[in-house]
Amino acid sequence: MFLAGILRLLVYAILAYVILSIIKGIAASGARKPTPPSRPSGPDTLVKDEICGTYLPRRDAVRDVVDGRERFFCSRECRKKAKAGADSSR
Ligand SMILES: [Zn+2]
Repeated sequence: MFLAGILRLLVYAILAYVILSIIKGIAASGARKPTPPSRPSGPDTLVKDEICGTYLPRRDAVRDVVDGRERFFCSRECRKKAKAGADSSR
């Protein structure tokens, strides 16, 4: 049937358009790297205590630099552990 053929062509055209726009969207999102994702680093940002795995607001965390890297801890105990670990690995 003639109409069915046209319909099928239309479906193919739409499919091609959708696939192309998806590919374009992926390429565009990949090229848009320079703009960093919104990553607030305010006092309410959650930071992870890598010693016990606790997440806590940055303003409540114990901050220290271990092995030249800024790290956050839920308590001084965890900070002590991190420092001890960094020292023993040396
Ligand atoms: Zn902790």
